Amino acid sequence: MPPRTLFEKLWDAHVVRAATADTPAILYVDLHLIHEVTSPQAFTWLRERGVKVRRPERTVATMDHSTPTTPRGKDGKIPVLDNAAAAQIAQLETNCRDFGVELHALGSEGQGIVHVIGPELGLTQPGGTIVCGDSHTSTHGAFGALAFGIGTSEVAHVLATQCLLQNKPKTLAITVEGQLAPGVTAKDIVLAVIARLGIGGGTGHVIEYRGSAIRALSMEERMTVCNMSIEAGARAGMIAPDDLTFEYLKGRPRAPQGAAWDAQWRKLPSDAGATYDREEKFDAPAIEPMITYGTNPGMGMAIGARVPAASNPTLAKALAYMGLEAEAPLLGHKIDVVFIGSCTNSRLSDLRAAATIFKGRKVAPGVRALVVPGSQRIKKAAEAEGLDRVFLDAGAEWREAGCSMCIAMNGDQLKPGQYAVSTSNRNFEGRQGAGGRTFLASPLTAAAAAITGVVTDARSLV
Ligand code: SF4
Repeated sequence: MPPRTLFEKLWDAHVVRAATADTPAILYVDLHLIHEVTSPQAFTWLRERGVKVRRPERTVATMDHSTPTTPRGKDGKIPVLDNAAAAQIAQLETNCRDFGVELHALGSEGQGIVHVIGPELGLTQPGGTIVCGDSHTSTHGAFGALAFGIGTSEVAHVLATQCLLQNKPKTLAITVEGQLAPGVTAKDIVLAVIARLGIGGGTGHVIEYRGSAIRALSMEERMTVCNMSIEAGARAGMIAPDDLTFEYLKGRPRAPQGAAWDAQWRKLPSDAGATYDREEKFDAPAIEPMITYGTNPGMGMAIGARVPAASNPTLAKALAYMGLEAEAPLLGHKIDVVFIGSCTNSRLSDLRAAATIFKGRKVAPGVRALVVPGSQRIKKAAEAEGLDRVFLDAGAEWREAGCSMCIAMNGDQLKPGQYAVSTSNRNFEGRQGAGGRTFLASPLTAAAAAITGVVTDARSLV
């Protein structure tokens, strides 16, 4: 057999029927993650046809997108004041009960953002195919899984058949070599990649991130990188599993147990001599802390750079929406809100990084800072090491787990015209609230802005 890439090995192992001239391939799905917003119509489709969930034991549900993150009441419960959210939550409970699907319900120990709890529980494993009705399913690729977002009709298809129709993507190697400078993070790597590739640069491809800078990242940092692959238009992002991956999974509730459980996974990395359809190379020491200035994640730059000239109508429209002057610096630009959270940057290491900036300082007057852990387990772990006190003492809000201001479906949103520095993954017009304006950045950069009230290079505060 000729040398194969990580992606090709996974693809070959999961094709149930190869593509024909008229039809895509049929791909087997190992794990289907669902949540309250993109699953209700799919279950209705099953009910109307009298169809059962094909592999309920391979389907896991959580509540995250529309759930509130406001602190619990005196009764220990998280209040749900929005009628639409309450209906979605109740519907998911009914659907999971009726179809025998495991549910991590609002406020329960295992609840959290769908792409945070999969790895946390050990459900996300190397060599598997994972789908979810959310674009940022690519997060799970950090474990050497082939993971991608699907639409609502595809959610129904996977529930009914445990398979998916797919055209085979091409492969794109993103190789990042060298050592990152202090204060430069995984988020900066991926924002730099998207800034160079553009939002369509990865279209039709699965990205494999390689090189010494990627290997040096922790599993949580690898998740941040893979998470945003979709923002370059890629179908998925992957990183070959290694000892760090196996160590992360060891002992997690749903990870396989036993001495030889990782033997098969060691065969997954791309073979020597395997070729990719495309390759892009990045020099890690040259990457600076990044920030976006526009209305898609490809409109990003080094934090000390100047906003580009409005050289085309798309850029001119973006700068007009953002209220930014072309060719002006972004450093020192006033902000109103800081959001630290989302499936990109809400894990324990993200919170620890933010806490290094908040510790012993106060949030700037007039700034609202929300810190939203990605899961109930992360919340508990952060509280056990006193991170909640660091944020609260600084004047930030410490919230319950959920997607929060990443998607603004849950009461956490910007007011029209407000500026936010956000650790989430999308800065589209209105994404964080109608008329809201988002600068995407790392937890360090977001925390620094919370303290100073303006866009700040976090390296000046450490
Ligand atoms: S945090 Fe944002 S991107 Fe991630 S799953 Fe939730 S809504 Fe989707």
